[in-house]
Amino acid sequence: MKNQYMSYQESLDFLHAMEKQYPDLIEVIKIGTTYEGREIVLAKLSKNVETADTKPALLYTGSIHAREWIGHELALKFIEYVAKNQTVDPELEKSLTESTLYMVPCLNPDGYEYSRKHFSFWRKNRRKNHDGTYGVDLNRNFSIGFVKQKDTSSNVYGGEEPFSEAETRAIKHFVDAHDNITIALDYHSQGNVFFPAHKFMHEAELDGTDMNVLAANMNDEFAKVTGRKYGIHRGKPPAHLISGSGREYYYSKGILAMVVEVGTKNIPDYMKSMSGSIHENIPALKKAFSEVVNYSSYAPRRVEAFTIDSREATSVILEWKYEKREDIFFEIYRSTKDKDACNERTKIGIAGENHFIDNDLVSSTNYHYTIRAVNKHTGYKSPFAPVVKVRTKLEDDEFFKLIFASKGGTGYVGQYTQEQNRLHFGLNSLFVGINKSKGICDAVISFDLSTLPENAIIKATRFYLYPMNRVGAKIEKFGQWDLSLLKPESFTEITDFYEIEKAESKGHIGQAIKSSQLTQGIWNFWDFSRHECELLQEEIANQKAVFRIDGPKYLPDGEDSQMMQFDIGYGQFGGGIHYRPILDIKYTVESEKVKLHSQVLSTISNKGVEEGLKSGFDANGDKIYGYLNFDLSLLPDPNQTMITQCALRIRNKNTFKNRSDIRFYVELVEVDEVGTFEDIKNREKIEYIGYEVAESDLGGKEYQYFNFDTLSRQVLDEMHQEGRTLKLVIKPTSALGAKKRITTWHEDVALVVKYIEKRRMPVASVEDVKITKENKMIKLAWSSVEDEALSGYYVVRNSFHPPKHFMDGVKLYGGKDTWTYDNFASFDKEKYYAVFSYDDVPNFSKPAIVRYDPLEKY
Ligand SMILES: [Zn+2]
Repeated sequence: MKNQYMSYQESLDFLHAMEKQYPDLIEVIKIGTTYEGREIVLAKLSKNVETADTKPALLYTGSIHAREWIGHELALKFIEYVAKNQTVDPELEKSLTESTLYMVPCLNPDGYEYSRKHFSFWRKNRRKNHDGTYGVDLNRNFSIGFVKQKDTSSNVYGGEEPFSEAETRAIKHFVDAHDNITIALDYHSQGNVFFPAHKFMHEAELDGTDMNVLAANMNDEFAKVTGRKYGIHRGKPPAHLISGSGREYYYSKGILAMVVEVGTKNIPDYMKSMSGSIHENIPALKKAFSEVVNYSSYAPRRVEAFTIDSREATSVILEWKYEKREDIFFEIYRSTKDKDACNERTKIGIAGENHFIDNDLVSSTNYHYTIRAVNKHTGYKSPFAPVVKVRTKLEDDEFFKLIFASKGGTGYVGQYTQEQNRLHFGLNSLFVGINKSKGICDAVISFDLSTLPENAIIKATRFYLYPMNRVGAKIEKFGQWDLSLLKPESFTEITDFYEIEKAESKGHIGQAIKSSQLTQGIWNFWDFSRHECELLQEEIANQKAVFRIDGPKYLPDGEDSQMMQFDIGYGQFGGGIHYRPILDIKYTVESEKVKLHSQVLSTISNKGVEEGLKSGFDANGDKIYGYLNFDLSLLPDPNQTMITQCALRIRNKNTFKNRSDIRFYVELVEVDEVGTFEDIKNREKIEYIGYEVAESDLGGKEYQYFNFDTLSRQVLDEMHQEGRTLKLVIKPTSALGAKKRITTWHEDVALVVKYIEKRRMPVASVEDVKITKENKMIKLAWSSVEDEALSGYYVVRNSFHPPKHFMDGVKLYGGKDTWTYDNFASFDKEKYYAVFSYDDVPNFSKPAIVRYDPLEKY
């Protein structure tokens, strides 16, 4: 096959030749005839192709839009690949044995030929409309959400009525007669992006995760071949939902349906770009094909009620419901990114029971989990449970802040748009890169750091940015997008292109994004290194951080645009304020130190209790214990402080000339009252403090520090909260049986406690959450929490289960008001809302949950 676009006749000839050469694998059928009399054909591919219709199937449709040639070309190359590798590639062979490919290389043959021969930019079919114009946009001619338009000359004119066109009727009849189809992929160009189907609602669907994962798994295959990643764009409010498309029709039939937009141009240079698009899509299609059976009636049932049982700073416990079955196990997937793949790269474990503990996580970090059931005998897998989002808790010494980009300080500046640059702030998206009309464009993103305390020590930072459109980034593999933190003294006017372009950078943050990785519809983030956190920390004093994003600065000959569009959340083009750029900062503060002195210092031996702190062995070789205690109620208020570090500081008075093997241990003990030797001997040890010390290592003057480890620090912290007394015993040991050897300890023994000021408990929970309907929206209102420490309320919606914590669902609101609207909720769908109150740590209260019932009147 030559490496150039095939004509439709060549394509038909090729398909019939393949059918002849591989009669057991391929059958070509005619599914309709076009306005100009061309045959619309569909190739069935399956082992024993006469049984094709009895197996689960993937439907592939290409070039429904005439000028989008990739769909046609890729189909032919994929068919050739499948035929040649059907017995070579075991994964493909398995897929062909258990399932079927239905390939329609070109759903718009008239338009395709018109585009090839007369006008390459033609999109519609070639029917003659009643007023003499030509063409109907076939991808607006399906029934779901069909809109009748007047302007027949429009590029998106959808026809007189749904299925008025021979092409759409042909595919409709085929799909209606084949309920074995489980996945449908409709290939278009351009944008390097997946558009999964939706139900014209902006709410999460039960199978939304399935479509995102299908796309993300295909993405991982692209990345292996070309290093490229496609975007995954789905249902972002208030995105424009297209009417009458094939994708939504297939989805309405219970099929997982997606549009795949390939390449950065409609008709790219074949040798330079198209071949790469084809090479990367062949393994991706193979991967999608292998999933077909997992969405059929042979597959196990989807896991239900997948949720978070509990979370800690470094661990999460997941739980779900499934009937006990010997032949089923579960695969669990985790990622720090949204819309990530679920494959060997992200599979973190398997489970036999209905819960899973994920350990060794990073504190205050967002994780995304999903799960599927697997049949041990068949290997068939269930669909995915909807993704569960979790943010791990803070460590004791940590705080976090999610700081949103400031409205007036965020916008873009263009080289040729100096007059308008001021208007680009606070209400437009960010254009970054270069094109012919705007010239070079840089983005400026400012954050108000005044809510961070001056003594904050930044431990980790993530900068989140939402890429909303990459249609203007038309050149494959050209340029990169860099984030840098600007030196505040190096510019004065953020709306001036030249000032921003020349502003000095304190440093680039994280890794630049290459053009092949510019995905729309998936949150992008930059992780700050230790050093970059320090650079940001320096800006706390200025109460402000200004970042710049810049892209390529020149265009290769013949190119007109390499421009990326990021969301700022504001204005009519923004996706809403939840799509604002975010700085997610984890920090601690400098700790304060106090020294506590012991209330009691005593020595306990079988002779009794005496004053003063000594430990060692008596003449009979019996142990002599040192006992000391500290009144923790003398420490600062436990509700406002956290102990971050603690050590027992001690030094000895006497020394010995000859050596012994005695070693001393400090134990945290639980005794009611120290009365007798027996009490201490039979004490309940809670924990050793730090490491033991050898007598031979004790100098006469130097202090020894016994540092509390994590567990003993936690015990200490609990005792502090309860206002109890810390009791410690210094115990000697000797393997050689030391006798008559007693170390005397200095009276200045102290407990050195480091602590930070941090609220320990959340403010009270919200009460009386009420749902009403107002202005065609769901409105939530609640009574205010009267507490000076209240920072605000946080509202979350979850379409599947009551939110377990503040990240478990879609954020609707964060702030001080006692009401919010859910702008994009459907009245027809059950869902849960949770309102949390929070303080400045933030500690979140228990959720106040309300269920929205579509049958109830509000
Ligand atoms: Zn298209």
